[in-house]
Order: sequence, then structure tokens, then C-alpha cells
Amino acid sequence: MLFTTEWLTTIFPDYRGAANERIAINEVATDSRKTMHHSLFVPLIGEKFDGHNHIQEAIKQGAAAALWDAGKELPAFLPEDFPLFIVRDTLQALQTLAAAYRKKINPTVIGVTGSNGKTTTKDMIASVAASSFRTHHTKGNLNNQIGVPLTILSMPVETEVLVVEMGMNHAGEINVLSEIARPDYGVITNIGESHIEYLGSREAIASAKLEITKGMPKDGCLIIDGDEALLRQASTCDCVITCGFDASNDVAINNVNLTNNHTAFQLNNDEQLYTIPLLGSHHALNAAFAVTVAELLNIKKRDAKQALASLEWTSMRFELLTGRNGSSVINDAYNASPTSMKAAINVVKQMEGFKRKVLVLGDMFELGEHAETLHRSVAASIDQSFDAVFTLGKHAAEITLAVNTEDKIDSRHFTSRETLLRAVEAYTKEGTLILFKASRGMQFESLLDQVMKPS
Ligand code: ATP
Ligand code: MG
Repeated sequence: MLFTTEWLTTIFPDYRGAANERIAINEVATDSRKTMHHSLFVPLIGEKFDGHNHIQEAIKQGAAAALWDAGKELPAFLPEDFPLFIVRDTLQALQTLAAAYRKKINPTVIGVTGSNGKTTTKDMIASVAASSFRTHHTKGNLNNQIGVPLTILSMPVETEVLVVEMGMNHAGEINVLSEIARPDYGVITNIGESHIEYLGSREAIASAKLEITKGMPKDGCLIIDGDEALLRQASTCDCVITCGFDASNDVAINNVNLTNNHTAFQLNNDEQLYTIPLLGSHHALNAAFAVTVAELLNIKKRDAKQALASLEWTSMRFELLTGRNGSSVINDAYNASPTSMKAAINVVKQMEGFKRKVLVLGDMFELGEHAETLHRSVAASIDQSFDAVFTLGKHAAEITLAVNTEDKIDSRHFTSRETLLRAVEAYTKEGTLILFKASRGMQFESLLDQVMKPS
């Protein structure tokens, strides 16, 4: 049980039915298509749907109570005693409820935001925290104005540490999420160009991420990418811990060593040799954030190291797979931004033991008027280490156009998935490493079936 309807009456005093009769609520749900287990149903209003139209279904699925928008007519079929809380706006009420529940359970909260690496860092922090505390964390990528409240409201009452991923598209959104989650510790992984379409500049992106401090207590602590000047300059917290590759950082990363499946590194402030089952020096930074949080939580270094070494990896994020005819394929089709695409290309560049390397790159979305320049900027990371660069999508064409022709790279743009695949297939031979990376909407994972070794 999370709470009772009686507790809800203290937050939403306008109620009807048997709301004040201590009815147990086991979960908070917004989707009436799913089975509910004594849930509080929150009917949300979207562009194309209105949850209020599905109250009957929700009750059939097991809803024990519901929120209800004051402007909506009450359906006649609703049983007299069904507990209903009348609110002005159901999304806002969901957020208010999440804030109240966070306060009631009062775990130590770690909020994670940034342009890239939020999910990875959040998962790393959660694994490390779980070595010593009852830990709850954002599942997958539920990081928006609905996902954050639902994450908080799915935390078991005995939770000691809560790790929340916070995403945004617009200024002001992290502010709202921070006021709800009230992080004791805030992590800003980096500042990239994601969502520059809506925010205008990297400075504006940095100040939008720094909104995470709005809900933090006075004695809270902000952990930032210290190699990013925009974060160093702007942060106003009393306690700031910088992590990064530059030796001037509080937590400085040294001796990064990439093997085909792991990244090993050391930190300036301890003796441990950390390894993570992920490829890329940027993941050493994400892990450094996790070690820093571990220290704030008084977790033993040994336990943090062990948790990082046994991390479980979510699929489609730089997953090294066996391709056809002895080739190797990296599935990084989960998402892409200029920062993460350059990071991925640089990791492939450093991977040893391959005869040839091929990049298959697609459009990166939500870059607005900067799309052309930012796609072109990716080409600067592409050099003679690569044999071929193939692109798909309107903007990705800029990458092939900008690749240096003197480097003798087989650089081609395709307008159909079929012709692209034919070109890739010609390279699927012993010793080839092929990277697939694009924004989620490009659905690059569907290309992989053709080049993967049939199982
Ligand atoms: P989303 O906005 O989709 O929630 P996210 O911020 O949660 O993204 P991840 O899902 O952790 O980020 O990683 C997305 C991509 O960014 C991956 O391709 C990963 O390789 C790359 N990446 C991860 N960490 C960093 C980092 N610190 N710097 C640059 N790129 C990174
Ligand atoms: Mg994410």
C-alpha cells in the first residue's frame, strides 16, 4: 500500500463518495487499458485523448479511486460511493500529489539532468545506491512532467534513496520537476545541443539545466560536468562538486582505457581501478558522477566499484553485437544528439582489432535552425580511421557532404533504406565494425535485422 484515500483528502479536500474511509491505494495509474491493483486512477487530458472518457474501464480494471477535473460532467453510471477527488487540473494534481508523497516518505533524493547521459548516469547511481540502501529509480526514460510524478508515486514506502531522471524540452520544466522531487543532490551530466530548437543557445540550455537547484535544500549539493565552463560559471549552490577529465576538477578522471567491451579508469581521489561494462570515455564521466554520489551517501568505495562493474545495460545503447559474415555491429539506435554522435564516433575510432570501420548515421532531430551546422559539425570527428560513412535522412546528408574528400572515405548519402542496406551489406565481412546511430524516430534498429548474424 502507498497510502489511503483518507490521506488524499488532506491534499484534495473537495471529494465525494467514500473517500474518507481509509481505502488502501496500492498504485497510481493513468492508463485505463492496463490492469490496476487497487489504484488511484488519474485521468489525464492529452491532445488526442481524455482519460475522463475511460473512467468506467478504469473501474473495471481495478481502480479504487480517481481524480476528476472539476470542469467535467460526472457520468451517471458512477457508483455513489466511488471515491472521487475533484481538482482543477489533473496533471497539476498528479504533480501536487507526487510532491506530497515525496515529503511523506522522505528518502534521500538524487535528481539527474543534462543533455546526454541522464539515463546512463541515473542507472549507475541507482546500482551503486542499491548496494547499501533500499533504492527506487526512474524506470527507463520516464523523465518528463508526467513521468517524474509517476516515478515518485511508484516508490515503495520503505524507500531510502530515490534516483530521478529529469528531462526537458523547454525552459522552466526542470524548475517544476525540481520543486516536485526536491533533490538533496542534483547531477548535471553535460550541456550539449539537444533541444536547442526550443532554447536558442547553449547558455540558455545550461541555465535551464541549472533550474535543478530550485528545489534543492540549502545544504544540498550540485555535482556537475566541470569541463563545461557554462556550468562552472553559472552554478550558485554553496556546495558544488566538479567531475571531469581536466586535472582541475574535484573528481578528476585519469588513465581511461577502452577495451572492446569495457572502459577502465581511475579517479584522483582514490586508489580504485574502476571498470564499467560500457564503451566510451564519456561513460567514465557518468560513472564518476555515480562514485561522487556514493561518497555523499557514505557508501564504501569497494561497494561502488563492485556495483559499477556488474551494471546491467539497457539495449540499443552502444550495444556490441555479432554481425553477418564475421562482422561486428554496434547498435546505438536508441537516440542521438551532436554530442553523443561525436562521442560514439570517437569511441569507434579508438576500438582496436578491426580491419575496417563503417559509420551508418541518420538524422538528429529537434535542432531547429541549427540542424545544418550541427550535422556538418559531426564530420569533423570523421577521419581516415573510417572506410565508409553512409547517411540517411534529410539533415544527415550534410554529414556526408562535409566529410573531407581527401581522406578517401567511401562517403555516400541514401534516400531509401533499401539502397542504404545494400551498400552496408557489401561491407559485412570478416573484421568490419559497423556503427548504427540516429535519433530514435529514424528507427535504425529495424535496419539491424539485415546485417545481424541470423540467430
Ligand atoms: P534522453 O534525452 O533520450 O533521455 P539521456 O540524457 O538519458 O537521453 P542516455 O540515454 O544515457 O542519455 O544516452 C544517450 C546517448 O548519449 C547514448 O548514445 C550515449 O552513448 C551518449 N552519452 C551518454 N553519456 C554521455 C556523456 N556524458 N556525454 C556525451 N554523450 C553521452
Ligand atoms: Mg534518458
